[in-house]
Amino acid sequence: MRELEYDGIIIGGGPNGLTTAGYLSKAGLKVAVLERRYEIGGGLATENLTLPGLLIDSHAIYHMMVEYAPPLKDFELDKKYDLEWIYPDPQIVMPFQDGSHLALYQDINRSYESIKVFSKKDADAFLDFAKWSQECMDLFLAPASYANPMPSLEQAAKLYAHPVTRRDDELTGYTPKQIVDQMFENDRVRALFLYLATMWGLDYDLEGLGYLVPLMINRAWHFRLCKGGSHHIAHLLAKYISSNGSRVITGCMIDRILVENGEAKGVVLEDGTVIKARQFVCSAINPHQTFFDLVGEKHIDPDLAGRLRQWQYSDTSFFNVHTALYDAPRFTVAEKNPELANSLMFVVGYESEDDLVKHFKASKKGLLYDGGFNCCFPSLHDPIRVHRHASSEVKHIGLMSMECAPYHLKDGGPLAWNRVRRDYAERMKATLAKYAPNMTADNVAWDYIGTPLDTENKFPDMKNGCFKQGAYLPLQMGYFRPNEYCSQHDTPIKKLYLGGACTHSGGMVTYGPGYNAANKIAEDLGIAKWWPEPDCVTVAKKANLL
Ligand SMILES: Cc1cc2nc3c(=O)[nH]c(=O)nc-3n(C[C@H](O)[C@H](O)[C@H](O)COP(=O)(O)OP(=O)(O)OC[C@H]3O[C@@H](n4cnc5c(N)ncnc54)[C@H](O)[C@@H]3O)c2cc1C
Repeated sequence: MRELEYDGIIIGGGPNGLTTAGYLSKAGLKVAVLERRYEIGGGLATENLTLPGLLIDSHAIYHMMVEYAPPLKDFELDKKYDLEWIYPDPQIVMPFQDGSHLALYQDINRSYESIKVFSKKDADAFLDFAKWSQECMDLFLAPASYANPMPSLEQAAKLYAHPVTRRDDELTGYTPKQIVDQMFENDRVRALFLYLATMWGLDYDLEGLGYLVPLMINRAWHFRLCKGGSHHIAHLLAKYISSNGSRVITGCMIDRILVENGEAKGVVLEDGTVIKARQFVCSAINPHQTFFDLVGEKHIDPDLAGRLRQWQYSDTSFFNVHTALYDAPRFTVAEKNPELANSLMFVVGYESEDDLVKHFKASKKGLLYDGGFNCCFPSLHDPIRVHRHASSEVKHIGLMSMECAPYHLKDGGPLAWNRVRRDYAERMKATLAKYAPNMTADNVAWDYIGTPLDTENKFPDMKNGCFKQGAYLPLQMGYFRPNEYCSQHDTPIKKLYLGGACTHSGGMVTYGPGYNAANKIAEDLGIAKWWPEPDCVTVAKKANLL
């Protein structure tokens, strides 16, 4: 490593770390992103996990904030480079064993018709909810992701005072299940919407975060795929950073953050290399790694250390099976309605809301349950995902993704995953074959299984496989994410910032934490921001919601 001093150091080259680096590099700072792995991108990973030439999104696949995320617009990744989004329609199909199905489309009126087959009352409730949730997204839920949080009571008062967001505030005290059950009467409609409300890790019976349910459900007809695979975004972010004079350095094993007189001064690598930071260090990994592993407890105030000890990771995460397929799936429901075969996502294995609740309950006990999951066949929408010799018999790739798999198995703990993964994957395949009968062993050329333990091993910041670097709990969100000392992205250690999913606005690829960290660092350093405030944030501020 030749250059040993930068204006700023960013630890972790996931979507958030890369976002912070992009903004600050273009602002003229010389920044180094230090990534532990030999590949950047964190959850933005596209890998040859099964067979050569098959581009598998091993982590983030569904991009949910494309219309809002500031860096996608500010960095002009579509205009300057070749970022392209794919927006399949229908977005979600939930087939049932009796041949019926529910479908959600880009056009909410088409979703209305699908729900109406099950219940006119539920279809009306959906339409009302869909229109209101869009208003609430535009006015508060999206802009709040790209602005730093305020104390919860203050925020609640603002939400309550506005006619659009009052309804969102009123949901806060309810569990996702209560909200869904109040809205819908039909069991299958409830099953679909409870799945959507909880698929990103909101506990079905958790009170206090009900205000997030409209966000989770609304996103379910706005998912995009990234052409060529999610890693392409990381690749373009890195190009953008380099073209602005900064660096992304892989294979960095960091021993500690240098702290002198209460101020972050750089990092020391495991081989003894010292990399100094003239102006800031921003850590985009989890709070335990940052403070306990890298800063060291002697530099931390006991109050902060106490709050850090309370930080919790989710106890459930992804169990994913990726397949290389000879043939595209042939879902029974698509026989009469071929359009359904092009759905982005299929949610299978839940015939009722109770099926889903039983799955959650079993997972919480550490049991492997034959529940449902979602599936996606990216090559149907993005043929480049299978770029093999023309004579190759493998034509498609598939994903089966269960988000509520236990990390800690009752029988044997996390390490037991290595024993049970194959059997559990085969059970999942058997479930899928009930809905798409050609998805038998004969159709699968090869597969790859990813467990919650694998996620933790690959990304230490995702402890317990927790893909949000910390669970969604009332005392771990908004002003408390990761705690009241660090929620504005600065920390009690001078010049040390946090910017990963453990900070506001939380997990998934929203770029919110990285964007908010960049804003805070620029403000503290007195740097003129070259980027405009997002329009939605300006509107939300005018409405006195932020
Ligand atoms: C299986 C799976 C599927 C997912 N699917 C989706 C999806 O469809 N849509 C979606 O929006 N989100 C999805 N997510 C979640 C999403 O990937 C994460 O929430 C997101 O990547 C968090 O971004 P981040 O930059 O904060 O952290 P990360 O993406 O975890 O990036 C952190 C980076 O820091 C590096 N690092 C860790 N420790 C150190 C260290 N000590 N020193 C230096 N570097 C370090 C890691 O290697 C990693 O590259 C999924 C996650 C998983 C695991």
